[in-house]
Amino acid sequence: MSLRIIVTVKYVPDATGDRHFADDLTVDRDDVDGLLSELDEYAVEQALQIAEAADDAEVTVVTVGPEDAKDALRKALSMGADKAIHVEDEDLHGTDALGTSLVLAKAIEKAGYDLVISGMASTDGTMGVVPALLAERLGVPQVTLLSEVSVEDGTVKGRRDGDAASEQLEASLPAVVSVTDQSGEARYPSFKGIMAAKKKPVQSWDLSDLDLEAEQVGLEGSYTTVDSAAQRPARTAGTIVKDEGEGGKQLAEFLASQKFI
Ligand SMILES: Cc1cc2nc3c(=O)[nH]c(=O)nc-3n(C[C@H](O)[C@H](O)[C@H](O)COP(=O)(O)OP(=O)(O)OC[C@H]3O[C@@H](n4cnc5c(N)ncnc54)[C@H](O)[C@@H]3O)c2cc1C
Repeated sequence: MSLRIIVTVKYVPDATGDRHFADDLTVDRDDVDGLLSELDEYAVEQALQIAEAADDAEVTVVTVGPEDAKDALRKALSMGADKAIHVEDEDLHGTDALGTSLVLAKAIEKAGYDLVISGMASTDGTMGVVPALLAERLGVPQVTLLSEVSVEDGTVKGRRDGDAASEQLEASLPAVVSVTDQSGEARYPSFKGIMAAKKKPVQSWDLSDLDLEAEQVGLEGSYTTVDSAAQRPARTAGTIVKDEGEGGKQLAEFLASQKFI
């Protein structure tokens, strides 16, 4: 039977763009360009490698996000994923990590899966909690923060590198794993891949397709609230140390005054 791999991919605001909060203190996603979270490219890459090593496998990518989040799905499809699911509903605005995991879990259950692969964290929220929340909601084992991952005989195996030791972990499928940015370079989409992606199926689901009510998600359904947010102060010009014979001393004094040395 085919190995059904689902990769969770997030559409995030471009970190090089001018990002700000909307009036309701949610991230303003309308006025800034977005892209597939770079850390999720590693998850797509590992899914494709596992699929290539398997006799029969299918890689589906899923995102919860606004209309433009289709761009993240297209990128993953052009890398080589087979199909995509886009969960979009205006009531999702303001959904926190717990709500996002609920929506993702419902979509993954509806699609059917053997293995879920997530990134280690998104590049905007960076909470790194969604994979664990997902595993709990799906009631399956979680093997998170893997730098190496493979699937053999219904078991997912991997290596988690810590500061003091590396652990070899495994779990029987179905399971949720997350992979780190050390798991292997993500491939670039080829021209052929980009053209092929245009024809691959993208399914759209809203809350009613997932048997969810508006009150379970959005700002109303969130367990966390953002009370205040402040713009980061503009960068200052910095201190220029001119070397007129005493440059080294001045530099050392400056570093000492900032407690760097
Ligand atoms: C339109 C919109 C408005 C939102 N408003 C808020 C808000 O007001 N407050 C708030 O707390 N959150 C909000 N969210 C949700 C938020 O952006 C995060 O998705 C959520 O809080 C998870 O946190 P994280 O990104 O830090 O996840 P992490 O735990 O860092 O993500 C780990 C991994 O989980 C997967 N993942 C995470 N999010 C998604 C996703 N959306 N789709 C697919 N895979 C995903 C990815 O594989 C990712 O690498 C909003 C989301 C959307 C789309």
